[in-house]
Amino acid sequence: MERRHFLQAGFATAALATLPRRFAADSRAADPLAELFNVRASDDGPLRLNSNENPLGIASSARRAVIEKLVDANRYPGAEKRALVRRIAAMHGVRPENIVMGNGSTEVLQMMVQALAAPGTRLVIPDPTFEQVEGYAKPFNLDLVKVPLTSAYVHDLARMEAAAREGRGAVLVYVCSPNNPTASITPTAAVDAWIQRAPDNVWFLVDEAYIHFVDASGYESALKWIGKKPNVVVARTFSKIYGMAGMRLGYGVAHPDTIRKLDAFAADSNTNILALAAADATLDDQPYLRQARQANDEARRILCDALEEMGITYIPSQANFVMYQVGDTKAFQKRMRDRDIWVGRPFPPMLEYNRTSIGTPEQMGRFVEVLKDFRTRSWV
Ligand code: PMP
Repeated sequence: MERRHFLQAGFATAALATLPRRFAADSRAADPLAELFNVRASDDGPLRLNSNENPLGIASSARRAVIEKLVDANRYPGAEKRALVRRIAAMHGVRPENIVMGNGSTEVLQMMVQALAAPGTRLVIPDPTFEQVEGYAKPFNLDLVKVPLTSAYVHDLARMEAAAREGRGAVLVYVCSPNNPTASITPTAAVDAWIQRAPDNVWFLVDEAYIHFVDASGYESALKWIGKKPNVVVARTFSKIYGMAGMRLGYGVAHPDTIRKLDAFAADSNTNILALAAADATLDDQPYLRQARQANDEARRILCDALEEMGITYIPSQANFVMYQVGDTKAFQKRMRDRDIWVGRPFPPMLEYNRTSIGTPEQMGRFVEVLKDFRTRSWV
């Protein structure tokens, strides 16, 4: 038996012996390995609708790839990382020099902040948005400008541009589209027009973590700018539609000179070999990706229809979460916890709203029942 297969079989037997009952493969199954590789995410425990994760669980193809790759986990991930970079580059029609990998896309956000951090650097962000860019900027005391979203919950690009124009040195502009927590997109044409006319000291960090869930016509990725504008960085993640939040893998796409600037702030060997194997397998797994997208569409509809029916104000969603009006979000969060459901944290200044992640259609059906009960008690 080849060493790899021998180790696989050994691992599988040991794993089967220690698996909790609900995961254990049927000993009568023709291929216990296949059973092991195909177990789905556990649905026990709280209903976790708080972190915009993929409720389907990691793709079974990725699970298999990880188990197969364990045999090489004593090795640094050089060749595997280069191979995935080549793959991602080909997928986006760019060169490997245009890609920097991160331990999650959050590391790319961090690299970007650190690459530009200097006395006088201005940071312009929408408000509310994903908090981590502001968080990474904190130790550097940047000149922070938070620009409220418009009444349509899109980035107020006119005000953001005015703020960028007043910057004295480098200006980092964070564009999060779809925006976390509002799940709203900012019109592509307006973003494009600004990128087109922006001076070189203005840097755009375009976060497309949720791009795969968008169904609005006319929405386009900012990747088209990579060959033209060194001041544009696009951040992508394997945490959302690819179902790998716990494995930590993301990447940035930019001009090679910009990538070198970012890479200077990346930890060495920042991607682990199992995450690389999982990503490689998931990229090939079109049925899984289609299913993830369809499940999200269906479950999002279940939630939005129910909100509509109950007359609860919500923001139309282009992502895998929905923000809607609940009154006191802290109280709502606690009451949901009492029902074993985890919903999103408060996002000031929108403290009347809750961000709830989309689960499977079945989970959203259960969630809606609880929400309806809350409504009859006037808790929402
Ligand atoms: N960007 C946005 C907008 C996010 O919501 C998140 C995670 N919730 C991230 C980036 C970071 O994702 P990760 O580090 O898991 O790739």
